[in-house]
Amino acid sequence: MFRRVFIGVGSNIGNRRAYYQKALDLMADLPQTSIVRGSSLYESEPIGEAKNWYVNGVVELETGLSPQQLLSRLQKIELALGRKRTALTKKWASRIIDLDILLFDTHIMNEEQLKIPHPEMHRRRFVLLPLSELAPQFAHPLLGSTVTELLADLADDKQVLRLPSNG
Ligand code: AMP
Repeated sequence: MFRRVFIGVGSNIGNRRAYYQKALDLMADLPQTSIVRGSSLYESEPIGEAKNWYVNGVVELETGLSPQQLLSRLQKIELALGRKRTALTKKWASRIIDLDILLFDTHIMNEEQLKIPHPEMHRRRFVLLPLSELAPQFAHPLLGSTVTELLADLADDKQVLRLPSNG
């Protein structure tokens, strides 16, 4: 059975757009998985200690993988692109690529290694803005509000700017 899944993609080191595109190419190659659509790209002010602005976006996938299988594949892509994942990696450290499972259909999971919906997604403009391009009426499985409603109620005042598609 194929599920509708939304992945948050972010990069704030090096050629951010190239890493973003490479991550999309590798996701398109995953077994039982196809890319349905990608959002526009956005540039967003960093949170925490990181200084570089992020390039962010959201990608919609259709997949026959389980949530755990998909997480494991996404982590392999992060490593393949050169991301270092060590115990010392700070939560908000800069990263070549970050891939988060935001929504996995209407699934709810609350395991240590995998929480779905992503526990921060409804608080982040850099997630909700691109997600609203792809699924404005999708209801958050725990909160019940649509993406559009979450965006309207958002307290996040970090800047998120849409990038021109060719630049
Ligand atoms: P990050 O440094 O933001 O990439 O966080 C990675 C950690 O978050 C990994 O250990 C994952 O197992 C865990 N994690 C929990 N829920 C999720 C999710 N929905 N998507 C991606 N990683 C998750």
